[in-house]
Amino acid sequence: MQNIHSIIAGKPVASPLAPFDKIYPATGEVIAQIEPATDEMLDMAVQQALSAQQAWAARPAFERARILNNIARLMAEKNEILAEAEVRDVGKLYSEAVSADVPSGAEAFEFFASLCATYHGTAHKWGDQMAYTMRVPLGVCAGIGAWNYPVQVACWKAAPALAAGNSFILKPSEETPLTANLLAEIFAEAGLPDGLFSVLHGDHIIGQAICQHPRIAKISLTGGVDTGRLIMAQSAASLKKVTLELGGKAPLLVFDDCNFDLAVQTAMDANFYTAGEVCSNATRIFVQDTLKERFISAMIEKTAQMQVGDPMNPKMQMGAMISDAHLQKVLADVNAAEAEGATLCFGGRRLFPEGMENGFYMQPTILTECHDDMACVRNEIFGPVMSVLSFADEDEAIARANNTEFGLGAGIMTENLGRAHRVADRLQAGNVWINSYNLIPPGLPFGGSKQSGIGREGSIYALEAYTEVKATFIQL
Ligand code: NAD
Repeated sequence: MQNIHSIIAGKPVASPLAPFDKIYPATGEVIAQIEPATDEMLDMAVQQALSAQQAWAARPAFERARILNNIARLMAEKNEILAEAEVRDVGKLYSEAVSADVPSGAEAFEFFASLCATYHGTAHKWGDQMAYTMRVPLGVCAGIGAWNYPVQVACWKAAPALAAGNSFILKPSEETPLTANLLAEIFAEAGLPDGLFSVLHGDHIIGQAICQHPRIAKISLTGGVDTGRLIMAQSAASLKKVTLELGGKAPLLVFDDCNFDLAVQTAMDANFYTAGEVCSNATRIFVQDTLKERFISAMIEKTAQMQVGDPMNPKMQMGAMISDAHLQKVLADVNAAEAEGATLCFGGRRLFPEGMENGFYMQPTILTECHDDMACVRNEIFGPVMSVLSFADEDEAIARANNTEFGLGAGIMTENLGRAHRVADRLQAGNVWINSYNLIPPGLPFGGSKQSGIGREGSIYALEAYTEVKATFIQL
């Protein structure tokens, strides 16, 4: 069986610590053993990162851009290999991984390559004195990843960090270690100098050591809200800069002047894509009461046609969930919702697809008759479970949509242009989608307000977060 080593300065490094299992979510089989990194390995990665970083930052920006573009090209060439590994990591559909996860990672490199050489500072003149500012890299940056989009999470963090002249250490989720090592190989093949990108495997123990390491300047986490709090606290002693991409409980407001079919499909995509394991998913569907019965019937009819099973089978619309423990947690959340008075209109049960009976599958699930104070409406479930609520008018919908500690995404379905912008303006969320959902083209910032996080990824704001401003004053 394959042993998954950490990669430091381009080379696999064996760990003396006991390995743990990597399970393929689609079948429940153990497919690899992960060797957790030690503190000594972390020191080694940081030393390599420190010595490689200054030469990297000193290179002309267009040379860095060329290497980042090479990475994007190689990722596109190896799309199928990466996508297959992503499926073995996450259990999500191959059709999703090959069309969204890998391309979106590659596009991050293309996008930040295009900014490298034009990321300038400012110049100032006071009388006969002058000053200028530059954005300078932070040094060694680290990324700690969630398990739902391992390739995208790695690339959205590594690409701006490297573009800005930093070195980068990645700790992927312990549930999804496979693609990180493939990315390390691709980066090396693309010409990225050794030491600039290392991968440390393991769970929160090595994660905590990364946060506490005095020579790491910045941490970017994608994970749960509680983990975000821990990361900030652990990083406080060394005053690291932190970017936190955390959880959500986003609303989708469906007004009675919407395009009905589009709204039904959008609500389903915003809940069942990647088996609902998407942080920005619109898991609170607010439907205007005049539309409610027709909307729910249409959703049940379409959801009942969804095929769930082998993620490599192109006929499937939903693959497996990440783990047995997570599946059990989501099923328990559905039971709790029923106990609180929600109506289980569709789904809610575990599935055992033929030949893959030990995989972690469940039905796409629709809960109706929900109320704002129910746990299924307040808390992130992170599975294919939507809660449907109804509202009478715009003001009520906005107030209830905003009545949450989260603020990652929000969506509006309406054909009324004025309403679309008026409502978008009042929704408290980092990303608002009108007549669409979860679309994040390269260059658009992504991230949350309130408890959903700090900072943004995927845009010039990410480059800002991996640099700091330095002012130089000149007495002429
Ligand atoms: P998690 O918070 O359990 O783990 C995330 C990462 O943090 C893992 O790599 C884990 O090993 C590490 N970690 C855990 N405790 C740590 C500690 N004390 N110190 C350092 N590292 C630690 O999250 P998950 O279960 O992997 O992912 C699901 C969560 O991620 C959901 O809440 C989801 O909403 C969120 N998420 C957010 C985004 C976003 O961009 N906003 C994207 C995807 C997922």
